[in-house]
Amino acid sequence: METKYIFVTGGVVSSLGKGIISASLARLLLSRGFSVTIQKFDPYLNIDPGTLNPYEHGECYVTADGHEADLDLGHYERFTDIPTTKANSITTGRIYQAVINKERRGDYLGKTVQIIPHITDEIKRNITLLGETGDFDFVITEIGGTVGDIESTPFLEAVRQLRWELGRRAVSIHLTYVPYLKAAKELKTKPTQHSVKQLQSIGIQPDILILRTEKDIPEAMREKVARFCNVTPEAVIQSIDAPSIYHVPAIMHGQHLDDLVLSITHTVARKEPDHHAWNGFIRHLDNARGCVRIGIVGKYVELQDAYKSINEALLQAATYCDRKLEIVYIHAEKLNEDNAGELLSVLDGVVIAPGFGNRGIEGKLAAIKWCREHDMPTFGICLGMQCIVIEFARDVLGLSGANSTEMDMSTPYNVIDLMESQKNVADKGGTMRLGAYDCRLAGGSIARNAYGSEIIRERHRHRYEFNNSYKEQFEAAGLRCVGENPDTGLVEVVEIPSLRWFVGTQYHPEYQSTVLHPNPLFRSFIKAAIGHGAL
Ligand code: GLN
Repeated sequence: METKYIFVTGGVVSSLGKGIISASLARLLLSRGFSVTIQKFDPYLNIDPGTLNPYEHGECYVTADGHEADLDLGHYERFTDIPTTKANSITTGRIYQAVINKERRGDYLGKTVQIIPHITDEIKRNITLLGETGDFDFVITEIGGTVGDIESTPFLEAVRQLRWELGRRAVSIHLTYVPYLKAAKELKTKPTQHSVKQLQSIGIQPDILILRTEKDIPEAMREKVARFCNVTPEAVIQSIDAPSIYHVPAIMHGQHLDDLVLSITHTVARKEPDHHAWNGFIRHLDNARGCVRIGIVGKYVELQDAYKSINEALLQAATYCDRKLEIVYIHAEKLNEDNAGELLSVLDGVVIAPGFGNRGIEGKLAAIKWCREHDMPTFGICLGMQCIVIEFARDVLGLSGANSTEMDMSTPYNVIDLMESQKNVADKGGTMRLGAYDCRLAGGSIARNAYGSEIIRERHRHRYEFNNSYKEQFEAAGLRCVGENPDTGLVEVVEIPSLRWFVGTQYHPEYQSTVLHPNPLFRSFIKAAIGHGAL
């Protein structure tokens, strides 16, 4: 079938969950036998979010093909199980860079290069790129930002033009907010009406309105919104606060969002939706008994979005173990050898978070020391793994002052060092070791048993690595290098086999953990944490 395009825009305020709505709709279309991909267009000038501080934009997600992407791509993968690529995450910066490169090459043949048509044409080219592969029945395009922002105007103009060109092959979904005024005890639809008017003034008539709300919106109010906004009453859908983001597909299906999209695009339904596997997960989630309490030691703990994929991977693993997940964020800068016991002993397991730079490192090392000495199930991810190595070097091998050259250029023991391939890299953007690499796991290791296979493939985002010249010393003292890149010999996984579960991965297993395929290492960790808690 010809590819259909679904555009998702947002109005009134940001953070309404356009990514979750897009991912939920993709889930529903997949469950009806269609092939779907989702892409995000972000209206900022950075080429990608790789250079953004997590305080700015939350976690940086990494695709298998090594693109540093918006965290919404993580939601897309967790909901759909379909890997995203560089083509699924576009920024204003990428668009402008492409246009300016073409201008320098002389591709515009002496013409004045302008926002319309050159920037908008480049946006349109990127929107239809995945559709033109012929691999997808539906391409869902989420436009970041809020209608009315100066930044998103060229994207919305491109959407307007494409809707006109695509006719019935395009659907426009607009997500808005319906606030509840406590004092008046009333839900208010005026912001939605204004937002739709603003969209209409750009030339986009939405086909479907999704209203974010904390309270049930009465039928009469939905009819009123329909009347004011030129949509049918059944195309006004409410997105009410859900017990979890994973309940949203069912809430959308209950209001026929998938049927509406099929009918607007004149698409014949292939089969009745099959929600079997998804509902299995939801049943575990709803019926989970007891709790598993996991601490995350990191430096962005006041910001939930900074560790989004880790949170979700932990939740998925806990859910399949029929436990509710309680995450306790522990600020690495506030942790030291004196208070480590007090902060950590109440936990069932500890994650040492990824990160960059010196801030919070000593706290992470103090946490690892306490966990190692008290046999606490501990999972170090990327920088967390590097800290496991540093702590072991200092406290077990007696290499005082051991460090990563990222933190201390003149350390006497550079147990973590810059990768050879990184030594001449000057630019910060897009130059780390990025994307999926093979890893060979040693027999008998926790990782090998968890994955159940010798060769695995996981995603990376780092510049520094385990220094192999110390390998024998570590192994002789009880820290095993159990995962290695088969081509380069880079150490990817370390374990302390004398402890019940003490594992560090140079890669980020959280990026590939989805609802239907939770990451095996997270599951193994949660099982160990539950076992530990029961003692
Ligand atoms: N800062 C470390 C490095 O670049 C770890 C990066 C990370 O945790 N993602 O190697």
